[in-house]
Amino acid sequence: MKYEAVIGIETHVQLKTKSKLFCGCDNDARDKAPNTTVCPVCLGLPGTLPVLNEGAVKLAIRAGLALNGKMGGVTKFDRKNYFYPDLPKGYQITQFDQPIVGPGWVEVPVGDEVVEVGITRAHLEEDAGKLTHPDGADYSLVDLNRAGTPLLEIVSEPDMRSPAEAKAYAQEIYNLMRYADVSDADLYYGNMRFDVNISVRPFDSAQGKAGSKQLGTRAEIKNLNSFRAVERAAEFEFKRQVDLLEKGDRIVQETRGWDETKGKTFSQRSKEEAHDYRYFPEPDLPPLVVTEAMIKAVKDALPPLPPALRRQMHAAGLGGSEIEVLIGQPELMALYARVNQRQLDHKHLKRIVNWLVGEAQRIVLEHGYDASQIDSDAEDLIKLSGLVEQGKLSSTAAKQVLTEVIQNQAHDVEKIAQQKRLIQVSDAGQLEKIVAQVIADNPQSVADYRAGKTQALGFLVGQVMKASRGQANPPMVNDILKEKLSNSENLS
Ligand SMILES: [Zn+2]
Repeated sequence: MKYEAVIGIETHVQLKTKSKLFCGCDNDARDKAPNTTVCPVCLGLPGTLPVLNEGAVKLAIRAGLALNGKMGGVTKFDRKNYFYPDLPKGYQITQFDQPIVGPGWVEVPVGDEVVEVGITRAHLEEDAGKLTHPDGADYSLVDLNRAGTPLLEIVSEPDMRSPAEAKAYAQEIYNLMRYADVSDADLYYGNMRFDVNISVRPFDSAQGKAGSKQLGTRAEIKNLNSFRAVERAAEFEFKRQVDLLEKGDRIVQETRGWDETKGKTFSQRSKEEAHDYRYFPEPDLPPLVVTEAMIKAVKDALPPLPPALRRQMHAAGLGGSEIEVLIGQPELMALYARVNQRQLDHKHLKRIVNWLVGEAQRIVLEHGYDASQIDSDAEDLIKLSGLVEQGKLSSTAAKQVLTEVIQNQAHDVEKIAQQKRLIQVSDAGQLEKIVAQVIADNPQSVADYRAGKTQALGFLVGQVMKASRGQANPPMVNDILKEKLSNSENLS
């Protein structure tokens, strides 16, 4: 490889406050009719004044803690001036030079490694409205329900070196924001959007380092709304820029869009067309002082975040891929945490984790999961593992019971197993009786086995399973049969 990618990402996170950033309007406009969650403030009517939402400040501090960001002291708001129909005031209230969250870092798991990505800053700002352009119409529709929704924009350092790292970073920011409970992080509704900045520079593979310290000319790909889109867009853009350099062409600094269907980025506007936003301090909002006491109060209420959870699970002997499945599904993670409180021995824990990342994950992805079931489901999983341990259930049968528990909220695992006729007969005395009967009834197969036709054993095992209506413990049947067949005295 003669080139390496240099990637930084800006992430817009919609904060889950009750009301908007500077007014009392409902912040959840999903399924609401256009222009119904609006007021004079978010409509930008003359003479109105913004009032900062304290809830949004607390969520920004929460996010800042998850990003290991520097906080405390004076932070202020600024006006970013531009005209667009989705922005009725003619300016956006954002933070220019004194953001609420300063430099920080995040640990990003990429395969078996952990890459540290620097966070430049994170700032609060209001979202704009939404424009729709009806097909064939000579007008556009403006919906201002989203105008004034609080956003946190998280800016990373250009620390990522491959599309895979970019994807992993986007995923980890998503995990962090979800566990810190600052956003619904619903990608479908655009609760999180990623802008990927990418440039390429020569790479000296012999020395395993960049051939140049200098960064190349970068392109910014705007408004990606899935991890996969982040990775694919970065892959496409890396190849496009390398091809240009190889041909001796120049890369222009520009903003590009992403066409999901074609799998291509396309030019939107070049640097020459960039706006001059004429930032200046917002005169209607006083600077905000973030005190140590405010930070501490938020920190004390912060639930465990992915880095700490990963360390705990690693210490409990879980593997990297199991850990990432659990982190990626907070319901399963909560179920795991509940089970783990019982300090089971490793064999039980491992068996339950296998169920969680296998069957249970499949069910949760297909059918969703009701978090109020966590306590009782945790108890059921522990009992179920006990039944397997005692030889009363095969592991295949246990998965059938698990489906009833997770999908259909049935709770008495032993009863479910009985109703489904899944309980195995593992009582040696009982099995020996059945085996003796089968041997007596099938003299020809017994003779065949003794004559060296080992496949006759399979037939006899099948007969025992049939006689027990499928409930005999197969490994035990196998052992008892072999023993009896090798010992003629036992033939009665
Ligand atoms: Zn409003």
